[in-house]
Amino acid sequence: MILEDGKVAIFHYSVSDADAETGSGPIESSREGKSPQAVLLGRGQLIPGVEGAMAGRTKGDRFIVRVEPEQGYGPRDPAATGRLPKKYFPPKVRLQPGKTVVLSTREGPRQVTVLKIGSSVVDVDLNHPLAGRTLVFDIEILDARDATADEIEHGHAHGVDGHAAH
Ligand code: ZN
Repeated sequence: MILEDGKVAIFHYSVSDADAETGSGPIESSREGKSPQAVLLGRGQLIPGVEGAMAGRTKGDRFIVRVEPEQGYGPRDPAATGRLPKKYFPPKVRLQPGKTVVLSTREGPRQVTVLKIGSSVVDVDLNHPLAGRTLVFDIEILDARDATADEIEHGHAHGVDGHAAH
């Protein structure tokens, strides 16, 4: 089966910063003790640069794709900072500068990076942590399958075998 919109790609990936020193390791990797990813193509679930590189691949393909910010997480906006009340932060999270925290907002979960901690407020960088970075993905297609009717209706994949409920 050839991957295209409406098919589910099962894959492992590692992502590194293209400008990082060699040997500094991936920023994130599904190969480090995590299950492979299952993603329904054509529904905006992947950044455009990765989604585009999936088309035409098949089980067993392994490839490297370089993604500029425009096809990734967008450019970094230096003005995108904010000051938020501490109560917005999950109580169990130990706040420290540079730490990435996921906040629940009305628009859904949002990743922010802590800049500075005050007594009642926290200054944050609202850019996605990978914004403005050129990324290199190392992707291996483990399987390619048709989407189930439920997956098409929901607009996302239901795990590797298509039967995880959510
Ligand atoms: Zn679902």
